[in-house]
Amino acid sequence: MKKINAQQRIKALRSELNHLAQAYYVADQPEVEDHVYDELYQELVALEAEFPELVTAESITQKVGGTVSQGFTKVSHDLPMLSLGNAFNEEDLKAFDARIKKQVHGNLSYMCELKIDGLAVSLKYVNGKFVQGATRGDGKTGEDITANLKMIKSIPKSLSQTVSLEVRGECYMPKTSFAQLNEAREANGQAIFANPRNAAAGSLRQLDSSVVAERQLSTFLYSVAELGELEAETQAEALDALDDLGLVTNHERRLCQTIEEVWAYVQEFQEKRPTLAYEIDGIVIKVNDFDQQEEIGYTVKAPRWAIAYKFPAEEAETVINDIEWTI
Ligand code: NAD
Repeated sequence: MKKINAQQRIKALRSELNHLAQAYYVADQPEVEDHVYDELYQELVALEAEFPELVTAESITQKVGGTVSQGFTKVSHDLPMLSLGNAFNEEDLKAFDARIKKQVHGNLSYMCELKIDGLAVSLKYVNGKFVQGATRGDGKTGEDITANLKMIKSIPKSLSQTVSLEVRGECYMPKTSFAQLNEAREANGQAIFANPRNAAAGSLRQLDSSVVAERQLSTFLYSVAELGELEAETQAEALDALDDLGLVTNHERRLCQTIEEVWAYVQEFQEKRPTLAYEIDGIVIKVNDFDQQEEIGYTVKAPRWAIAYKFPAEEAETVINDIEWTI
């Protein structure tokens, strides 16, 4: 493509993606299915790779999606809440593995985790007490949703030890709660939610906490932002430590020694996906060793030591155009 054409296409893609991101992250009312968004996004990534001089700091490829809504107090994240790079097939995973192997030496293993389809949250504990919870927002500043998170039973108000730490995870609505909620809403003549992710995001960003209490949300924690007194040298140890503290992690995780083992795990859970009690939209693959993670580092938007494999579009269950949206 000629540079002048690329410039025009990039402008159009950024404008469309910004519009779709606003609908998805801010209004919790996506206008297209994820794979449509992902295809446009990947086209923009490819064009920006071909014409790096056209990349600007304002491009959606350089920022974490989301903003802070009116009505919530802002929370500044001590450490940014990032996005993840994407893989769509086995080749992408092999390319990820090859890139990692160029950067690290010594034993390498990957922690594979289910990519829970919900809303990212950050929980702060001081001396073992839950003191603050926030959304990801734009990655640097999130929304203070402490009161809402206190309504979620799986988030302990006190830990089993008096440690101070910040943990991150995904807040989600189990499939059965989602079905019950929509059934009740339909019976009451209210608009139904399109999918559990939207129901969870819409519920958590309610200003009235009593609504959250009724919605039966749950959480899986998947990372420690600041270890504090917690001793862990790997993702596997960190997740075990979270379990010991009484925080809920997802136990389908698996430590893999090779990218072939990773691929087998991906395929296994692509098959098991319909049988799970909660929605997942892929698998997150993380370099297990924290020192190696630091060696590999970050882009402006995501860790280089992790990647999210996204399940193919035909797995999607929701036809967006047929659904009425609400928050
Ligand atoms: P992402 O959802 O692809 O990946 C990052 C997120 O994964 C994290 O913030 C975290 O919330 C989540 N996650 C779940 N389980 C995890 C685990 N075990 N470990 C680590 N993280 C885990 O990235 P994103 O920037 O949040 O969103 C981009 C995605 O959102 C796109 O791929 C697209 O599908 C979707 N999107 C859709 C639309 C639309 O219009 N349909 C618009 C914007 C974005």
